[in-house]
Amino acid sequence: MDDPAPPHQLFDTILVLDFGSQYTHLITRRLRELNVYSEMLPCTQKLADLTWKPKGVILSGGPYSVYASDAPHVDPEVFNLDVPILGICYGLQELAWHFGKNVLAGEKREYGRAALNIHPRNGQEAHVSRLFEGLPDDMDVWMSHGDKLSRLPDDFITIATSANSPYAAIAHESKEYYGVQFHPEVTHTPKGTQVIRNFAVSICKARQNWTMEAFRDKEVERIRKLVGPKGQVIGAVSGGVDSTVAAKLMHEAIGDRFHAVMVDNGVLRKDEAKQVKQTLTKNLGVNLTVVDASERFLSLLKGVEDPEKKRKIIGNTFIEIFEEEAKKIAKEAENTPRAGNIEYFLQGTLYPDVIESISFKGPSATIKTHHNVGGLPEKMNLKLIEPLRELFKDEVRAIGTELGIAEELVWRHPFPGPGLAIRIIGEVTPEKVRIVQEADAIFMEELKAGKTKDGTSLYRDISQAFAALFVDKAVGVVGDQRLHGYVIALRAVKTTDFMTAKAYWFDEEFASRVSDRIGNEVQGVARVVYEWTSKPPATIELE
Ligand code: GLN
Repeated sequence: MDDPAPPHQLFDTILVLDFGSQYTHLITRRLRELNVYSEMLPCTQKLADLTWKPKGVILSGGPYSVYASDAPHVDPEVFNLDVPILGICYGLQELAWHFGKNVLAGEKREYGRAALNIHPRNGQEAHVSRLFEGLPDDMDVWMSHGDKLSRLPDDFITIATSANSPYAAIAHESKEYYGVQFHPEVTHTPKGTQVIRNFAVSICKARQNWTMEAFRDKEVERIRKLVGPKGQVIGAVSGGVDSTVAAKLMHEAIGDRFHAVMVDNGVLRKDEAKQVKQTLTKNLGVNLTVVDASERFLSLLKGVEDPEKKRKIIGNTFIEIFEEEAKKIAKEAENTPRAGNIEYFLQGTLYPDVIESISFKGPSATIKTHHNVGGLPEKMNLKLIEPLRELFKDEVRAIGTELGIAEELVWRHPFPGPGLAIRIIGEVTPEKVRIVQEADAIFMEELKAGKTKDGTSLYRDISQAFAALFVDKAVGVVGDQRLHGYVIALRAVKTTDFMTAKAYWFDEEFASRVSDRIGNEVQGVARVVYEWTSKPPATIELE
């Protein structure tokens, strides 16, 4: 059977070679936002090993100095590909190094905003480089470098300058090699996307046909080919957007030969197992088995206070149960005349996981391989199928909408694998689980009903919110009776990448309504507090 074609063979692709900058993934994201498909590979990629041809190559920034003896360098074959190249920061310096070793340490680092003057300056009648078409003569850009070009490489011209960088942008116009000292991929360069569009669309002539509609059709086809006419696939679903989208895609491709399993571990949100069943079975038609193992989990968690222990118990028990269930399903599947064996395990890997595992970590670093859920597929002798591995989170959401998944689910806040067990500090008991579930349900209901000043729901405006339970009890008064009850902590944060996050501010009316409702409606709660630490120093979850 032919190997089913991955996106880089179906869509015009810009290859981003990563030299270890913290911004490299943003280059790929900006391209995707322009509907141009892009993939990232480490700078050490040998081009002879590439089975596809990019429409253009971008060399990223990086923390090294090109002139250092252990600095990473691009495979010189890149210059024989006969496609346009754009070097960004280290990438620009790498171009200059390749074409004449013209790079030195600067006298001082240039970090932050700079004014870029695009040549020719106002009033002159020469031509503007195609890289800067449609841009003003002066624009703000973001710089972050310490090295600089000592002179222009042969046959290159200067196409922009800044006060500190006489070679802020250079070009070899006949070969279509371009270099910029600034970072067009960051939002601190407000018109940076136009520079990237000029490179990808006008210079590389990449078609802007990367849409989730096109991807969906091609991916469904790819899954069908991969699994074959009889193969079967098993996968876990959690109710989160990634696993729901992956499950729906599998269902579109192979119908009931995809078996979804949901394990109710007793520390899910209120009514979650019921809701997931409703959504996946009734609304999306996915073949789903729900295993209610809540008692098994809760009895194993009895007396356990250490968060790491809680995580381990939940993770290992999950694998055990999933394996038991998979065996049952496989047995039944064997008796289905039209289908073959279960050969694949569905995994909801996203592109950021792939990027994390292949990004360039340094000249001597060994590259970390991507780990999968507790080694389960290997243990069960299953092959992995990862239909979302080329997608960023926002693309998963877009395809979810495309697949007709309800908006509420598509925009659902993240929920940790160990569930409420890590939102209950200390021992997990059925009573504490009930209290957190109820308090959380009230908080979510109010967040969904509440609006920001410009009319978006608070839930959408917030990146992640939840109720948690602190370990100590406090005193309260209910109906003239002293209550020694639990302390509920509410947390809500706003973030773009979940690496850093800021606590969200509510107005007084909203905050007191939520607090009053939890105090009145959830039996056993004596206090409601708001947890307003940012990340760092805190993490988003409590344990
Ligand atoms: N390390 C190089 C310098 O300091 C490149 C920096 C970068 O790519 N951001 O100039």
